[in-house]
Amino acid sequence: MAQKAITTENAPLHCMEERFYSRLGRALKPGVIARVVLAAFERARRGEKLISLTGGSYDPMSLPVKEVEEVLRDIPPEDWRGILQYGSNLGSGRLRAELAKFSGEAGIEADPEGEIIVTTGSQQALDLISRVFLDPGDRVIVGEPTYLQALASFRLYGAEVETVPLDEEGMRIDALERKLRKLSAEGRRVKLLYTVPSYQNPTATVMPEHRRRRLVELAEEYDFLIVEDNPYGYISFEGPMPKPIKAYDDVGRVIYLSTFSKIVSPGLRIGWAIGRRGFIEKMALAKMNADICSDGLSQYVAAELLRRGHVHRLIERVRRVYREKRDLMLESMELHFPEEAEWREPRGGLFLWVKMPEGFDADALLDEALKRGVAYIPGSNFYTDPNIRNYLRLNYSYPSREEIAEGIRILGDLFSEALKS
Ligand SMILES: *Cc1c(COP(=O)(O)O)cnc(C)c1O
Repeated sequence: MAQKAITTENAPLHCMEERFYSRLGRALKPGVIARVVLAAFERARRGEKLISLTGGSYDPMSLPVKEVEEVLRDIPPEDWRGILQYGSNLGSGRLRAELAKFSGEAGIEADPEGEIIVTTGSQQALDLISRVFLDPGDRVIVGEPTYLQALASFRLYGAEVETVPLDEEGMRIDALERKLRKLSAEGRRVKLLYTVPSYQNPTATVMPEHRRRRLVELAEEYDFLIVEDNPYGYISFEGPMPKPIKAYDDVGRVIYLSTFSKIVSPGLRIGWAIGRRGFIEKMALAKMNADICSDGLSQYVAAELLRRGHVHRLIERVRRVYREKRDLMLESMELHFPEEAEWREPRGGLFLWVKMPEGFDADALLDEALKRGVAYIPGSNFYTDPNIRNYLRLNYSYPSREEIAEGIRILGDLFSEALKS
């Protein structure tokens, strides 16, 4: 029998599309960031502006335009022939060698031949890890609140996410141990633990050394792997980057991820993973499926920015700029936010995490904030329980100084009104 033809007459458009999607395809839904970006486009079309305190974008005026132009100008013809060809699925040898040196300065030893893979941002590393390690039903532990895009990756591949609460020193190890004991008593295995130990997104908390060491011991004791996501460690406002968990890992249980996105440029899409040889090889095979190899021109530029010392200078620059913007945001909040609002001063990273009193609904207020021209991310987007609505995350890296001052004033007024009503 012939299949019934699909026409616009016999099905509403969305139904017609819906029947073609895989389970994975159906699971893909736009999040709050997409909604806010859409609102910003809408407003821009009407000629109105929107102050965005939402994503983790780079300070537009600090982007390395000059440095990249200089690298591009200097490319000799023989190097262009390499750039324009297919490259290794592990990433360009030149970039891996530079990344090994760069990571060595953070206390991580890695053989560029086999223990490092270049990825299209850290997000691709999270996707490759999910593909290589996770079966449907496998357990992943994350600290909560956490980075939503990582959870989305694990869940897309069917993982069951277990959460452990954070305190002011990051993931609570006592709660983690309790959870591990319980799961193990029930015969349920944990495969991965995902953590952002330095200037965590969204809370900006930093895990102290004793917790980092204990995590590695627990991974050994309960036989799981640690995925250490470190995009923000370099953006430290007081002193050097906290030593990564990977630096305490003698047994090869940590897969370390970092990225250029917060320190050099998010548009270059340069990330990397460091781990034991077998794991990196497997991720390289998954990368063959995903995109064969990373972009040759981006990798060349990244290697040159490292070799010429620009990356170190850029890190110094964003540390200075973001620290200043953080201070300005804190001052504006002191002036304009209602007394009931609570926050801790971030010691690094790009975000300020704000707690409002119980009953406050950051999700419900977002529409009114957008109408008044300011966007933020409601805290519920960092929790597995969508009913936690009295937090919000504010970004200070992207908005200009004027926008920070104005945006915080507008939000302060809005939140004060909301608390009074
Ligand atoms: C911003 C961010 C990343 C970076 O993702 P890229 O794909 O490298 O741009 C990774 N992890 C966390 C927690 C982040 O906040």
